[in-house]
Amino acid sequence: MRLNGKVAVVTGSARGIGRAITLAFAREGANLVINDVHAEKANDVVKEIESLGGKAVAVVADVSVREEAEKIIDAAIDRFGRIDILVNNAGITRDALFLKMTEEDWDKVMAVNLKGVFHCTKAALKHMVERKYGKIITISSMAGVSGNVGQTNYGASKAGVIGFTLCLAREMAKHGININSICPGFIDTELTRAIPEKVKSTMIPFLQYRAINHRLGKPEDVATVAVFLASDESSYITGEVIKVTGGAF
Ligand code: NAP
Repeated sequence: MRLNGKVAVVTGSARGIGRAITLAFAREGANLVINDVHAEKANDVVKEIESLGGKAVAVVADVSVREEAEKIIDAAIDRFGRIDILVNNAGITRDALFLKMTEEDWDKVMAVNLKGVFHCTKAALKHMVERKYGKIITISSMAGVSGNVGQTNYGASKAGVIGFTLCLAREMAKHGININSICPGFIDTELTRAIPEKVKSTMIPFLQYRAINHRLGKPEDVATVAVFLASDESSYITGEVIKVTGGAF
């Protein structure tokens, strides 16, 4: 077990990539804080982890609100006594062509995808710096690297997450804290299922054609990389952005 006894917080983990990461962490022996805005689904993940013999607690909180983000990290300390791993996974899209994009679409995406990372990381680091140990993983996106039509807000937020990761890795190296980003391509989740058919029909066959084994990514493809980055196998890796795209980009 590569995460035996470690305490991990995964934001936005009631479904999709976050859920897959929590289950993979639990299988490796970690204790989990499940966070989401959906109580019922978050509790279902707790039950799933318990059925694997693991320990987990659910915290319903919005990462974009400082006090709520702090509540997520506090839950790790209260229930398990510390925090070893933070995965900043919560993310949303509000896609629109730029000329039609509203200020509200822009602000909402920035608040969850970028400010949420700021709040959760700040709250977690308070404890990690003290112990001179911590693994922080951000989930960015190829939209922030190579761009995507209709995603100026999302792409800007994810490029911001990459910049955040690179800069913070430089600051945290002396404290023994690793911070890396996983940069997924197209992963089959409810987030990507929400893309309008008209857009998907042009995009997906192309991505599938280029990708390894001609398939889209699965949440588990991201989760295996998260396990590696959360484990001590990656202790000399920091400030990296690891693409999980199957070669499609
Ligand atoms: P998903 O299926 O939509 O899951 C995201 C979860 O986060 C949802 O349960 C969501 O709740 C929750 N959430 C949303 N806002 C939140 C907030 N303010 N505080 C706490 N939780 C919140 O998405 P996914 O595809 O698994 O994506 C996970 C991460 O990977 C995101 O950061 C995403 O940008 C990134 N990513 C995904 C892909 C992909 O192809 N799927 C590619 C690149 C990067 P709601 O149901 O209310 O939204």
